Amino acid sequence: LLTVRGVEKSFGDLRVLRGISFDVPAGTVTAVIGPSGSGKTTVLRTLNALDQADAGVITIGDLSVDFAAEVDRATLTRFRLQSGMVFQSHNLFPHMTVLQNVIEGPVVVQKRPRDEAIADARELLDQVGLAEKADQYPFQLSGGQQQRVGIARALALKPKLMLFDEPTSALDPELVGDVLRVIKDLAAGGWTMVVVTHEIRFAQQVADQVLFLDGGVVLESGPPAQVLTDPREPRTRQFLDRIL
Ligand code: ATP
Repeated sequence: LLTVRGVEKSFGDLRVLRGISFDVPAGTVTAVIGPSGSGKTTVLRTLNALDQADAGVITIGDLSVDFAAEVDRATLTRFRLQSGMVFQSHNLFPHMTVLQNVIEGPVVVQKRPRDEAIADARELLDQVGLAEKADQYPFQLSGGQQQRVGIARALALKPKLMLFDEPTSALDPELVGDVLRVIKDLAAGGWTMVVVTHEIRFAQQVADQVLFLDGGVVLESGPPAQVLTDPREPRTRQFLDRIL
């Protein structure tokens, strides 16, 4: 479903991504791990063109974009709608209810009928365990609940691919479990996902594939049983020894 070929990205003189390539088959979960500053967030942002790659080809479904060339606005908009992104912290609209937050994208961006968007949103809120919070405002929710609304909001746009950037790293420890459970349910439901995470146990349980990023390249990739328990690269082992 997703193929990434030779993605490069610099910020000024800093070469952050130095030729990233990987594949994510439909219905699978890829966990991205690696030291701070290795480029994990940047990879995710290029997949959604929040940061446009300087070079490389990214294909999501039937849409392939070569970022070495000039990309026109219409293509970029289409490309962005292929994936839904969940950030470290939720960025919900504070003046809108939970339900309004979830229907905003479908109604305003996708021009879908409001009734239909509301019905969908209620179903999604149910799926993330927040059906009864539909009419509350973000400030009335815990961080973990806000994060789950953020997930429902991204799902509401019906993307082909879901991208998560350390979705639990800003949460109190006791709230992490609920958010990870929702992501696990999505995986079980067949969603294709790329998750940047420091939760190695979660990666072990949920990922089909783990990418270890170091210095802007994929240093090692494979099934979790290999990369996380029996890594080939000394750098991967060092990293795991430090965080486990
Ligand atoms: P962490 O685990 O700490 O979140 P990361 O692996 O996600 O790290 P990135 O956030 O992708 O790393 O950042 C990689 C490098 O790129 C860092 O050195 C960072 O300072 C730099 N960088 C990221 N975004 C920008 C930007 N918009 N402008 C300049 N430098 C940036």
